[in-house]
Amino acid sequence: MYVHQRQGSLEVICGPMFSGKSEELIRRIKRAIIARQRVQVFKPALDDRYDASAIASHSQGRHDAIPVKDSEELRRHLDPDAEVVALDEVQFLDEGILPVIDALADRGVRVIAAGLDQDSNGEPFGIMPVILAKAEYITKLQAICMVCGAAAGRTQRLVHSGGQVLVGAAEAYEARCRHCHEVPHTTDGKLFEGE
Ligand code: ADP
Ligand code: ZN
Repeated sequence: MYVHQRQGSLEVICGPMFSGKSEELIRRIKRAIIARQRVQVFKPALDDRYDASAIASHSQGRHDAIPVKDSEELRRHLDPDAEVVALDEVQFLDEGILPVIDALADRGVRVIAAGLDQDSNGEPFGIMPVILAKAEYITKLQAICMVCGAAAGRTQRLVHSGGQVLVGAAEAYEARCRHCHEVPHTTDGKLFEGE
């Protein structure tokens, strides 16, 4: 069967910290470069865990990236000839990125966005629910739970501080499965009368 595939789409790579999102994003970027495509890579300037002008994975993979403080700065840096636009840590970008992503994909650009789908309370992170709803392709990765060794879809915050955004790596967070993940001040999981 012949499937007519027009160019321009949104791919999302999501999952908790340590699940390999940056690794997978870097892999896709490298393959696009091998295919001689014009690739532009961005990351929010707020995430300076390893390197201000590169995306870096916890396994030492890295690729140059343009740090941007918001969606408006990203738009100003866009190369009109880019065929692939990759965004890491997209959960930290403001909602102004949504029309930019749509416009790029509509014009034929392959947009690849990697980010945390949930915050450390297990709640949807920022604009990620919208980005996931708009995507053609979604890859949801899992890490390894640091308590029990099962597949982990959540990020446990190990230190307490206010707010959804605490930029940090291994020392502040670890991957946990649903059962080992602990959230302060939530319901006790009761569903039925008498439990
Ligand atoms: P993400 O971008 O999702 O945070 P990275 O691509 O930066 O993930 O890092 C993935 C790498 O982190 C793995 O290949 C592995 O070497 C390492 N790692 C450290 N802790 C874990 C864990 N709990 N589960 C899986 N991988 C882990
Ligand atoms: Zn577990």
